[in-house]
Amino acid sequence: METAKKEIQGIIDSLSNKSTTDNTQVDILQTQLLYIEDPTLLDEVHQLIFKQNHCAAVAWKKAIEAMINTYQELEDSYLQARAIDIKDVGGRVLQLLTGENSSSLNFSQPGILVAPDLTPSLALQLKSNFVLGICTSAGSVTAHSTLIVNTLGIPMVVGVGTQLLSSPTNSQIALDGATGEVWIEPSQTQLQELQAKQSQTLDKSQTPQEAITKDGRKISLMANIVGVADAEFALECGAEGVGLLRSEFLYLDRQTQPTEAEEYESYRAIAQIMGTRPLTIRTLDIGGDKQLPYIKQESEANPFLGCRGIRQSLDTPEILQTQLRAILRASHGHNIKVMFPMVSSVQEVRAAKKILTEVENSISVINKIKVGIMIEVPAAVTMANQLAKEVDFFSIGTNDLSQYVMAADRTNSKVANLANGLEPAVLRMIQQTVIAAHEAEILVSVCGQLGSNSVAVPILLGLGVDELSVAPPAISIVKRVISELDMSEVKAIAHSVLQLDGAKSVQEYVVDKLGIR
Ligand code: PEP
Ligand code: MG
Repeated sequence: METAKKEIQGIIDSLSNKSTTDNTQVDILQTQLLYIEDPTLLDEVHQLIFKQNHCAAVAWKKAIEAMINTYQELEDSYLQARAIDIKDVGGRVLQLLTGENSSSLNFSQPGILVAPDLTPSLALQLKSNFVLGICTSAGSVTAHSTLIVNTLGIPMVVGVGTQLLSSPTNSQIALDGATGEVWIEPSQTQLQELQAKQSQTLDKSQTPQEAITKDGRKISLMANIVGVADAEFALECGAEGVGLLRSEFLYLDRQTQPTEAEEYESYRAIAQIMGTRPLTIRTLDIGGDKQLPYIKQESEANPFLGCRGIRQSLDTPEILQTQLRAILRASHGHNIKVMFPMVSSVQEVRAAKKILTEVENSISVINKIKVGIMIEVPAAVTMANQLAKEVDFFSIGTNDLSQYVMAADRTNSKVANLANGLEPAVLRMIQQTVIAAHEAEILVSVCGQLGSNSVAVPILLGLGVDELSVAPPAISIVKRVISELDMSEVKAIAHSVLQLDGAKSVQEYVVDKLGIR
């Protein structure tokens, strides 16, 4: 505990020496010092050690967890939010007691990771040469941690229930990320079948250069990325550019807000990798299942319906201004576009564009940057004709659109089957968006998970979507699927599936018509 206190004091001293330090950072750390010395906490730890014979690490962990629970149950939202500080300081002491970095993942040999769930920041630390596959008992296909895992190309199966957690370490497990199947102690025959399927998937020799249908329709195929490291990977996978940079992941593991210079460096580095190819930078999309330690958010009863995306950015305009200035400066000589997430009203877009114009004027920008919005809230779909007049492009976020249309939390495995982009209810929303975009003569892309689903690709093309943006490892398979399609055929398929009674029927219909899996 003394070491933890010295560490925290060290951070406070270094922050206090900087002229730019935000005092709230220092205040938070001062409060953390008080938590370590909290007499009730220490009393509880002593009890657990001396009366219940727990070792120090276990006693500390139990006492901290109890304290976190107490804070989380309080009525006062400010005090509730302090639970995160207790977790932080508790983790620091625990790490010192065990000699392990509890918030990082270190593996000594390659294997399959089995866990209750994964946070986005842990997912960012995964290395595909050590983590060959992941099974989580909770989670869902469109949770942000899963999306990061997809970007890394690691097969993952989510929501398998808790039974797998009790399998002994070193059990042999096999999984198929495409079908969601998991085998415990698979037979030799099963292993051989899976290995054959894996080699087929990894074989890029059959992948065409471009995404062109049999009758010559070219579809732009972009990558979804989270940082500099995967920009290069995206090009290796055959991306024509970046359709979605989830900028909130660039600085997820920091305690302090990045400076404009740091943000500029990141965007510039990615832009240089992209050269003249398009790079769409989405402004911070936090809230929901994503938090940034340096943006303090009140705890919310329904975070996915709360202060998320553009709402949060308009709430802290100075953070948005800094980000936009960095984006505009990085765009010089590059094909950068800016995109606002979680839009639900025309007023929000106008407010964000006003801030953009002010920033543009303040740095005398010569070429206006292209501005787009994510269509991921039903209200944006129904207002798409008005929104289309405000912007240069739409990008449909099917992960959120599915959860909001179907009223099914994307992180809740219990309702994961409902939050399915193949539901005709969601597909009809996509159709409505495309019609509004094309009437206003703007392009529309799909950057949610649905764009990499082989069954969905023909439907999206048939509905008139102009561009797909997918996780880099999915690019090759999507190109192969597109090269097998014919526009007149997919238009007929799209038309038919909109009339079906649910996602299952849509899946069966497309598989039957095209023989895709
Ligand atoms: C989406 O909602 O589909 C999307 C692409 O954004 P995110 O997954 O980051 O919320
Ligand atoms: Mg989204």
